[in-house]
Amino acid sequence: MIADAAPRPFWLDHPDAPAARPPLGGAVEADLVVVGGGLTGLWTALQAAEEGKRVVLLEGERIAYGASGRNGGFCAASLTHGIANGLARWPGEIDALERMGRENLDGIRATIARHGIECGWEDTGTIDVATAPHQVAWLERETEQLRRFGWDAELLDAEAMRAQVDSPTYLGGVWTPGAASLVDPARLSWGLARAAEASGAAIFESSPVTGLRTEGAGVRADTAGGSVRARHALLATSAFPPLVRAIGRYVVPVYDYVLVTEPLSEAQRDAIGWHGRQGLSDLANRFHYYRQTEDHRILWGGYDAIYDFGGRVAPERDQRPATFELLAEHFFATFPQLEGLGFTHRWGGAIDTCSRFSAMWGRTLGGRAAYVVGFTGLGVGASRFGARVGLDLLDGLDTERTRLEMVRRRPFPFPPEPARWAVIALTQRGLARADARAGRRGPWLRTLDRLGLGFDS
Ligand SMILES: Cc1cc2nc3c(=O)[nH]c(=O)nc-3n(C[C@H](O)[C@H](O)[C@H](O)COP(=O)(O)OP(=O)(O)OC[C@H]3O[C@@H](n4cnc5c(N)ncnc54)[C@H](O)[C@@H]3O)c2cc1C
Repeated sequence: MIADAAPRPFWLDHPDAPAARPPLGGAVEADLVVVGGGLTGLWTALQAAEEGKRVVLLEGERIAYGASGRNGGFCAASLTHGIANGLARWPGEIDALERMGRENLDGIRATIARHGIECGWEDTGTIDVATAPHQVAWLERETEQLRRFGWDAELLDAEAMRAQVDSPTYLGGVWTPGAASLVDPARLSWGLARAAEASGAAIFESSPVTGLRTEGAGVRADTAGGSVRARHALLATSAFPPLVRAIGRYVVPVYDYVLVTEPLSEAQRDAIGWHGRQGLSDLANRFHYYRQTEDHRILWGGYDAIYDFGGRVAPERDQRPATFELLAEHFFATFPQLEGLGFTHRWGGAIDTCSRFSAMWGRTLGGRAAYVVGFTGLGVGASRFGARVGLDLLDGLDTERTRLEMVRRRPFPFPPEPARWAVIALTQRGLARADARAGRRGPWLRTLDRLGLGFDS
């Protein structure tokens, strides 16, 4: 069943996919050169172009080639990978971060409306579901926390949960209607690229930047076919091999995998309910996330988070049959009513994981270049904020954003190999064991918790 699925991201397999833009040829001048054409780079290019800057964006492959064209399309307000993570790390500024997160999500909605971007936006909210008895108590805590920060959160018991979406594995849930929306991330990326161009930015695809250095009072980015001289550079290269060494200390590529089913018939849809079309995730450490597409398929991803020794990012890693098998098995355990449904797409993508699970910023080349990376699997919404902060930093602005401890401080770095692999493997084993032992965390995870370190996807 899975073998027949197309080995490529569902989102990129769309009739709206734009024609390839030509690569950079020759020498170009700009105020800002952006490296990376995912959502982070695109939000940077659009916001800078709207300010009147001359912007050039260089993408090594195609727009949305990376995580931005491969994700679940959950567009969350949270800038901190959830309130609990933000509260644990930045208790003094979580109120401001939550407010900025709301403003950011509103800003995304406003941009989509202003530029007429058709990207399947749905304000359905999300439901966190408990699928193991120990998770039911967590739901109450989560609901209370969400309400404390002003979110309208509805605690669902097993019956109420199954009235929303019917799975025999559900024991309860928390539905937060306003804290996240669903989107087709590739069409959002393509739309942002068009909007950036309409605002004056130039975008070149198939233009991997091979070197970045200072030149005169600015920077110079080189590609095989040309170069861009600019006052500033913003690096939005996520989990890909970094152009500056610092990124490699803080970010590791972790592969996450996704299946998409064929469209459900009306009878199949009735069998599972889910008329509210919310985005769903379970509460395990190794969690699944899933949602419906506009054409009534189910996208089902997560669980395995694979780090390979040396942190290689390569196209052959996009396919992992053992993980696809496991995902399919979990899918039918969740929705036995859908037995026999086929999968049409299977793919994987690299997540830019850092030890604090949320974006980090840094400056290099004497402050002429900045980088924004480390979204750890929750960057569809936060990338706009990340880009805004990156631009503030390059312009030397003193704003509420740049004063945030979250922005000024960096995460704890990962050790070099082979310790890197060993630490991650130990942590992953600990997380799997905690899932199997009613959530109880062993000594290794408790030590990491005390130090404020973690591993997630
Ligand atoms: C499977 C999966 C599921 C996810 N699900 C969700 C989700 O549901 N919700 C959520 O919020 N987040 C999710 N994420 C994370 C989310 O997709 C990203 O955080 C978000 O899209 C921002 O991505 P980005 O622009 O920083 O990186 P990317 O989209 O990876 O973009 C980086 C780009 O840089 C380019 N590049 C790299 N090096 C160079 C170079 N030297 N020269 C030129 N170009 C270069 C790459 O080709 C790539 O296009 C998921 C990620 C994955 C992989």
